[in-house]
Amino acid sequence: MLPVGGIHHVTCIAGDPQENLDFYAGLLGMRLVKRSVNQDDPGTYHLFYADAEGHPGSDLTFFPWPDMGPGRNGTGITNEVALAIPQGSAAWWRDRLAKEGLRVREETRFGEETLAFEDFHGLRLALTTSPRAQERTFTPWARSAVPAVHQIRGLHAVRAVEIAADPTKALAERVLGMRLVGSEEGWDRYAGADPASGHLDVCSKPSLPRGEWGVGKVHHVAWRVKDDAQQRDLQGAVRSAGLGATQVIDRFWFHSVYFREPGGILFELATDGPGFGVDEPLDALGERLVLPPWLEPRRPQIEERLSPLRLPRAPEARP
Ligand code: ZN
Repeated sequence: MLPVGGIHHVTCIAGDPQENLDFYAGLLGMRLVKRSVNQDDPGTYHLFYADAEGHPGSDLTFFPWPDMGPGRNGTGITNEVALAIPQGSAAWWRDRLAKEGLRVREETRFGEETLAFEDFHGLRLALTTSPRAQERTFTPWARSAVPAVHQIRGLHAVRAVEIAADPTKALAERVLGMRLVGSEEGWDRYAGADPASGHLDVCSKPSLPRGEWGVGKVHHVAWRVKDDAQQRDLQGAVRSAGLGATQVIDRFWFHSVYFREPGGILFELATDGPGFGVDEPLDALGERLVLPPWLEPRRPQIEERLSPLRLPRAPEARP
């Protein structure tokens, strides 16, 4: 069985979509690479932020559900998403986040400088300097407010908190084929086939309450599979491990299989292709609402229900 490559994307729940866009495309300087809708709830946006070309492993996505409650971190959900920044960029980012009034906690995790903070809607984030950040497949976004040298390189890690982590660790090793690459302060770190790609950090915290989905919480974590054949193999392995896996769902930009890991976190297996360039040119990604073909006939009704979004102005357009 081939191991998963690392993190493919992470999907979270946000509040107001414009505030979400201002935070990720403005403050963090990521590119909005796809402006679409939740395929199961097409009256809600699905916003995708990534590097300039939306490479698998760089993509943080959001369902803005402002009417949902705030949710709760705790067991059975992912409590934090870490993004990789280049070595030497921590001081620049610390100043940028502080200037925006964000409270930043500086930590060292697995020997890496880490800035921990929250987005406008309470999602726990970290920026981590990674020695492997430069090895990643990455295209800088020329119109970002963040200089290319400091731009976010992709997803670095997710923090999965469990009542009991052992079954999750067994899944990571025996089914997903990941390797234990570090242990520190109760956290175990697992890497997939591509060591520069995002990690799973998992720990047991039985004293914490059960986590709940809501605004500012992680919805699911997707792991990279290179093609449909590997996805089928892993789907079978997940089912053989006694976990229910969905059938393959065509998400148009990739193919997905979902399952709940033993602690309850929603995981997905997502193919590296076809990619975000399949339905719009790379130089125009994210500029207009894109719908998968089966929702296109309902475009007028869908557009009517969505509030208009303003992209942050490119730096050269600023007065
Ligand atoms: Zn997903």
